[in-house]
Amino acid sequence: MQILDGKIVSQAVKDAIKIKTEALKNAGKKTPHLAAILVGSNGASETYVASKVKNCEEVGFKSSLIRLPENIDEATLVAEIEQLNNDADVDGILVQLPLPKQISEAKIINLIHPDKDVDGFHPMSIGKMVLGLPTFIPATPYGILLMLEHYKIETKSKHTVVIGRSNIVGRPISILLSRNAYPGNCTVTVCHSHTHNLKEICLQADIIVAALGIPGFLTADMVKENAVVVDVGITRVKDDTKKSGFAIKGDVDFTNVASKCSYITPVPGGVGLMTIAALLMNTFNACEQKFPSHKMEK
Ligand code: NAD
Repeated sequence: MQILDGKIVSQAVKDAIKIKTEALKNAGKKTPHLAAILVGSNGASETYVASKVKNCEEVGFKSSLIRLPENIDEATLVAEIEQLNNDADVDGILVQLPLPKQISEAKIINLIHPDKDVDGFHPMSIGKMVLGLPTFIPATPYGILLMLEHYKIETKSKHTVVIGRSNIVGRPISILLSRNAYPGNCTVTVCHSHTHNLKEICLQADIIVAALGIPGFLTADMVKENAVVVDVGITRVKDDTKKSGFAIKGDVDFTNVASKCSYITPVPGGVGLMTIAALLMNTFNACEQKFPSHKMEK
């Protein structure tokens, strides 16, 4: 069994971005600039946004963090986004989700200019992704692709089972892994809360992507020998032994599943770190307005 190490791969991705960013600066071009909006003070969201801003600094990007109170009305957030859309210095706009209930997430996502949609959630970005056109790819699926690529994991003709069909993880990764590309060319089965016989389906999988948000859900009896397991889950679980009072748990019963796998991502230290690296890639691409086209396979 080999660990798919998010620390190593995300650092490699960030090192490459840092070099390219320095080259931009040396050529007198503009520095990539990410603007992040955080509404309210949800603990997990605070952590994610702080990490994104810190990572921007690490690779030499400019970043702006706009904090808005929990009780703002939708019009205030709309005005903020319109201002960022019109600010030529801002390359990428990120609105940390979830938003308070008085604000429509769909409306806000739709409002971000597609050229600045570094989260890749805008219908235009999703549509282009489905068609295989160059565009922003949502950061978590993009991070998974970068991870598979780094470890040269064979994906062609493999049966991939994705557990979860969210717009930000399950659905996009299922589409990306079915593309005629590397990583891709998988036969993909998407499972969800209404799937029957999930265990039998998972046992057929060469690759499993677990993205449902139930800690330890994927157990060893659901996994074929030598499968590749990608654990997307991030759930805060109460843990009094930790200073923070909680531990981060993935969707995979890592202790028992790992010994059966050929490769597995840990939590923490796996997909979460790749998500941030992929967001930085998207921000760099936003600044350049150039997107890597995927490598077709015969
Ligand atoms: P979500 O919470 O929007 O949806 C969960 C999905 O799981 C749904 O499609 C549902 O049908 C499916 N599901 C629920 N129970 C199921 C069951 N018993 N069997 C099969 N399918 C079931 O999903 P999300 O936003 O993609 O989040 C999933 C997990 O991934 C969460 O833990 C989240 O915190 C985590 N996440 C991690 C990253 C990262 O960077 N690592 C990024 C995004 C989300």
